[in-house]
Amino acid sequence: MEVVSLTASTDPDAARKRDALLRDIAASADPSSFWLGRASEVAWQRVPTRGLDAADAPTYRWFADGTLNITESALDRHIAQGNGERIALVWLSEDLTERRECTYAALLAMVGQAANALRARGIGVGDRVVIYMPLVLEAMVAMLACARIGAVHSVVYAGLGASALRSRIEDAGARAVIIADYGMRRGGRTDLLAIGREALAEGCATVTDAFVLRRDRNAALPSLGARTVLDYADACATQAHEAPFAIVEAEHPLFLLYTSGTTGKPKGVVHVHGGYAVGVAYHMRTFVDVRPGERYFATSDIGWIVGHSCMVYGPLMRGLTTVFREGGLDHPSPGVLYDAIARERIGALFTAPTALRFLMKYGNEQARARDLSSLRWVMCAGEPLNPEVYTWARRELCGDTRGNVGDNWWQTEAAAPCVGTPPGFAAKLGTVGLALPGVHLRIVRPDGTNADAGEAGALYVTAPFPHLFRTVWGDDERFRASWDEHGYRTGDAGIRDEDGYVTILGRTDDVIQIAGHRIGSAEIENALLEHPHVAEAAAIGIPDPLKGEILVCFVTLRVGAPVPDDATAHFGKHLRATFGPIAVLAKATIAAALPKTRSGKIMRRVLRARELGLDEGDISTLDA
Ligand code: AMP
Repeated sequence: MEVVSLTASTDPDAARKRDALLRDIAASADPSSFWLGRASEVAWQRVPTRGLDAADAPTYRWFADGTLNITESALDRHIAQGNGERIALVWLSEDLTERRECTYAALLAMVGQAANALRARGIGVGDRVVIYMPLVLEAMVAMLACARIGAVHSVVYAGLGASALRSRIEDAGARAVIIADYGMRRGGRTDLLAIGREALAEGCATVTDAFVLRRDRNAALPSLGARTVLDYADACATQAHEAPFAIVEAEHPLFLLYTSGTTGKPKGVVHVHGGYAVGVAYHMRTFVDVRPGERYFATSDIGWIVGHSCMVYGPLMRGLTTVFREGGLDHPSPGVLYDAIARERIGALFTAPTALRFLMKYGNEQARARDLSSLRWVMCAGEPLNPEVYTWARRELCGDTRGNVGDNWWQTEAAAPCVGTPPGFAAKLGTVGLALPGVHLRIVRPDGTNADAGEAGALYVTAPFPHLFRTVWGDDERFRASWDEHGYRTGDAGIRDEDGYVTILGRTDDVIQIAGHRIGSAEIENALLEHPHVAEAAAIGIPDPLKGEILVCFVTLRVGAPVPDDATAHFGKHLRATFGPIAVLAKATIAAALPKTRSGKIMRRVLRARELGLDEGDISTLDA
């Protein structure tokens, strides 16, 4: 395996960072005192004296006697320290013709108004608020406003469709929704309001208030049944800028973020104010490692955990300036991301392998035609980073010696990087890197014994850390079922080599990873079953050089149902309308029957083997 040494030998800053991280790795053998020591990185109203409370394991609690509100660390603290005029957030439009920035002081004022607008409708501590908005400043303000009043936000990615949105609103028992009229993608508008209206047209009985951000000020406010519909901007504009934050217990829920698991029911991953703040602030400082005064650009979306931790809470807690851009990666031109990096003089970039593969696809000229000399640190998460892409990104984006590329592995449940190659550490191509401080891992064989170095197995987190999820919303059983005698089962398979470098082999469950987005087979199948002609459905992911995986489906039709001329186009359209545009269907096959186990479970593994032209025995048992 090729080892690429980074700037460690020549960059004293990176070397210092590496030594500090190595000390932290040693210290984190005692998680409770390690993390209690890190608690001072955030602002508390009552400073905790206790670290880990394992009395109700695996429901671990952290900092139980502490009280806080995460928005104090993200906002008020910077103003109190005299940094109110520092730019907090910079929004860029898809074609870069529009740009909005706001200082920490301005952001606090906007959050205050939004918090007061929510409070004016009686929304308060513990109420769930679903946010269905594109990547705009107002969406981040909405998240922070919920946190400020102790309400629990649940951002639903604006690429999901009406039934996915409805099931999340219902599962959360949301009291209110905040919806935008449209999002911009590839030069066109996605009509989010129409999707929101359709979602709210049935069920969603707990929603009493809907706030609508009208980016198009001429559009009419919709009526949404008996609910109170408010213009979001007007509701905020009439409020005072100051809104005292609600002081909550460390274990008070901050947000739910729905992700995919093995069942069709979306999984509402719960994170809390205290532990999440401490863990995210720590990894933001040590791994994401943006230097003082440096510009930081993240290409994720608030609909994902990377967006929550590395675009909103993490950078704001660290007092950084974060640049983000609404829209498609390569629209209106293949060089648009480079233009953004060059214009904004970006030093650190958080992105995904898919984005790098897109850039690579367009060749070197695009990168070489721009001045990327500010860029020194590119972080990549969400799916495996192929060695070719690593080497290309290091050479073309970071000029080989000027900077480096760091892979990192985590998931919605873990809230922050767990395994990675931090600045100052040598990269081993094809591996993600080392377990980061506070993260204890084990690779387990199918028979439950520990795998040897170099041997594949199921990847477990063996010790709790403060920012590991607390439960699955409304379903403690499901949460507990993801733990066993080895610890928390991540759902991934991995290998660790003799030096401790971990390679991720992919999911061990039926989760498909399209362009870094996690989609459950079962959720796609449920959406297909909503089609009146579909009797049975199976969804699988097939490896793809650009997107990691692509979606392939098999359906059997009801007796007498018409056979569509073009099954891919037909069911693709249906999936777009139900699950949402994120579910791009690469191929649909109409089958006479689906392969099943004796108990009637569809054998997706067999379908995958057939699709790949493999002998069925070639598929790893880990994939079962
Ligand atoms: P999500 O919860 O949507 O962030 O998806 C998490 C899943 O993405 C993980 O369980 C992995 O399967 C995959 N993943 C995330 N980061 C990486 C990475 N650096 N390398 C390989 N797979 C990754």
